Amino acid sequence: QVVSYAPFTLLPSAVPQDLFEQAYAVQQDFNLLVDAISQNKEFLEKTLASTIKVDDFTAQLFRIYMQVLEEGLAQTVFLGINRSDYMFDCGLDGTAALRQIEINTIAASFGGLTSRTADIHRLVLKVLGKTEEASHLLPNNPAKGLALGIAKAWELYGSQRAVVMFLVEEVQRNIFDQRCVENELWNRNIGVIRRRFRDVFEQGSLDASRRLYMNGQEVAVVYYREGYVPQNYDQQNWEARLLLERSRAVKCPDIATQLAGTKKVQQELSRPGTLEKLLPGRPEAIARIRATFAGLYSLDEGEEGDRIAATAIADPDRFVLKPQREGGGNNLYGEELREVLEKIKDSPERTSYILMDKIKPQPALNYLLRAHSPLQVSECISELGIFGVYVRQGRELVLNKAAGHLLRTKAIEHADGGVAAGVAVLDTPFLV
Ligand code: ADP
Ligand code: MG
Repeated sequence: QVVSYAPFTLLPSAVPQDLFEQAYAVQQDFNLLVDAISQNKEFLEKTLASTIKVDDFTAQLFRIYMQVLEEGLAQTVFLGINRSDYMFDCGLDGTAALRQIEINTIAASFGGLTSRTADIHRLVLKVLGKTEEASHLLPNNPAKGLALGIAKAWELYGSQRAVVMFLVEEVQRNIFDQRCVENELWNRNIGVIRRRFRDVFEQGSLDASRRLYMNGQEVAVVYYREGYVPQNYDQQNWEARLLLERSRAVKCPDIATQLAGTKKVQQELSRPGTLEKLLPGRPEAIARIRATFAGLYSLDEGEEGDRIAATAIADPDRFVLKPQREGGGNNLYGEELREVLEKIKDSPERTSYILMDKIKPQPALNYLLRAHSPLQVSECISELGIFGVYVRQGRELVLNKAAGHLLRTKAIEHADGGVAAGVAVLDTPFLV
């Protein structure tokens, strides 16, 4: 095993204060929206119908979703931890606008490590003699905020002896990020175990009321830090996933909420009238949500899809082509976008993708400090994430909060990819 430090910027990056505040102000609305989608079978069915015909991974998730609904949910407490990501789109007149990149509803990471990054940047600024600037950096503790949500779900589950299970990867690359959240739970006298799908397959069982046990130890909350890409699953792991979903344990997220975070759902949300159907009687929330949307386009078969496909082939630099995948490194840009779209434009495979307007932020200079990389100044762009956490008991939302932020910065030559993909590094916003 190799221990390496998480990459970070030498200096904090400038972030417009009004856009930062806008991102915080809309987070509770996004929590509400994701929660509403997760309870709307008709919407999920209709929205994902074309996708699951061509995308096996989404189809398999959907099959488990339907199977669990048919049996009837044993789970009564619901916990959502998400992260809504944004970039600052630079308009022709030089003003920046907040544009959502995506919302991550499963395994949204770096809430732990980023709870420490402001301290690093405060120190660096002080060493540079910028004491005044150092005092402007905001406190930020998503680890604590996420743990509060998990603790609330654990408490409502109502069994003192039950533990929280972190469902983790086979090869654990981001363990310290997870430990920050775990330690906050131990501090509240809530026990945590770390297990893989494989362990669930071998040791997991349900009792008659579908309580989940791991080798005789009751589990109140399953917190997924795994399970969002096809490579995480073989036949056994799918069986383990089904067992977890059928159980009474609080899943963070349940499979419906994972489906609510697909790119296809994101694209459908931008259609006129969709938000109104999902959040009836909440026009202010809808306006705040919609103000963050970039242009999103369906590639479903038909005239609408034909037209946008032709536009993107003619002018690929205006768009990003996105498959139904998470974790960075999957999107297509520029010439590659054109080639792929040319190839699939007349085939049903096209419907496994969506198109999105490309966001163009103003670059700034910084140093990206990464193990085994040369130290050099780079032209960089940043992506702001806001963590959301909510807990629902039956139909009643008992907790709905923004739990902190994450700023990730990367060199402009990388079109795609996050920290885990080795492209972006941790940063701290310096509000301007
Ligand atoms: P993933 O689920 O793989 O994280 P994202 O939608 O977050 O997919 O895209 C991955 C990365 O690609 C983002 O972090 C961002 O850097 C870049 N990206 C995504 N969408 C856009 C866009 N519309 N404009 C510019 N860059 C984008
Ligand atoms: Mg992303």
